[in-house]
Amino acid sequence: MPFTPFHMGPGLLWKGLQPAGLSLITFGLAQVLIDLEPLYVLKTGKDFLGVPGHLHGISHTLLGATVIGVLAGAFGRPLTHLGLRLLGQSQFIPVRWNVIWWSAFFGTYSHLLLDAVMHRDVEPFVPISRWNPFVGLVDVGTLHWFCIITALAGMLLYVGRWMIRTALPRAKVGETRPLL
Ligand SMILES: [Zn+2]
Repeated sequence: MPFTPFHMGPGLLWKGLQPAGLSLITFGLAQVLIDLEPLYVLKTGKDFLGVPGHLHGISHTLLGATVIGVLAGAFGRPLTHLGLRLLGQSQFIPVRWNVIWWSAFFGTYSHLLLDAVMHRDVEPFVPISRWNPFVGLVDVGTLHWFCIITALAGMLLYVGRWMIRTALPRAKVGETRPLL
């Protein structure tokens, strides 16, 4: 990782820029699913392929991120719909599949890239190569600030849009955009 919640930064920024263009629940689900393996390693001492002490195993490869993206999309859509119902926002259902798949794969691939920059043991191209060309491209402090600033900017944009919509309720009647 960076600590899993840090990975929400790029998703929050996208949500702020294009509220209808991202399912935050699906993006968040992708972050949680991809970090199940490091969590498993911390508990058992081995990765999903049985390699001792390898924190970022198969889940943190292009192959793993693709499979996890499919899972995040498949489960993210019903979860997004559930969230919208619970918030009384059923008018945004159904969320389009292209939004769901973008949210899922943007989630897993951005996660992989951030972790590959930060962690030497991430091997994005396994099983083809163990090479990690991204490690150290940016120092860890900068990477964390990138996550924090994108998250804050996204939230500010989102809240700003919401305040404008609330102030001008009649201006956006009929607009359909998922809130989650
Ligand atoms: Zn990770």
